[in-house]
Amino acid sequence: MTIYRGGSPAAISWRPNICMVVCHAGVNAIMNKNASDVFGCTLYVAIFPCNECAKVIIQAGIKEIIYASDQDKDRPSIVAAKKMLDMAGVVHRAYNLSQRRVVIDFQAIDWNSPLKNACREDHSCL
Ligand SMILES: [Zn+2]
Repeated sequence: MTIYRGGSPAAISWRPNICMVVCHAGVNAIMNKNASDVFGCTLYVAIFPCNECAKVIIQAGIKEIIYASDQDKDRPSIVAAKKMLDMAGVVHRAYNLSQRRVVIDFQAIDWNSPLKNACREDHSCL
């Protein structure tokens, strides 16, 4: 969860509800991606996304969500999120916690590989 770009918690003395001025992790991940788009991609999140994040996830074309915790599963926003995701065909499943780390080794990536660019252009890697 992040305060909108340019905002700060101290400057927002009028806030009636913190959720009105923050960007949740799901939206942040999509808005600050390091690719031209995320169509067909998998989104890894710590906590199951809310209804507001689910709408952005669906619109962005995310096809799978892997979450570590479904701790808020009974909240109306999470119930709504799951219904929307199901209707849109977005798969969601719990992360296997027997794997305690997700490692992205940027040094192991062959940045000169022609396959790197093909992935972004035609999604053939999906
Ligand atoms: Zn959210």
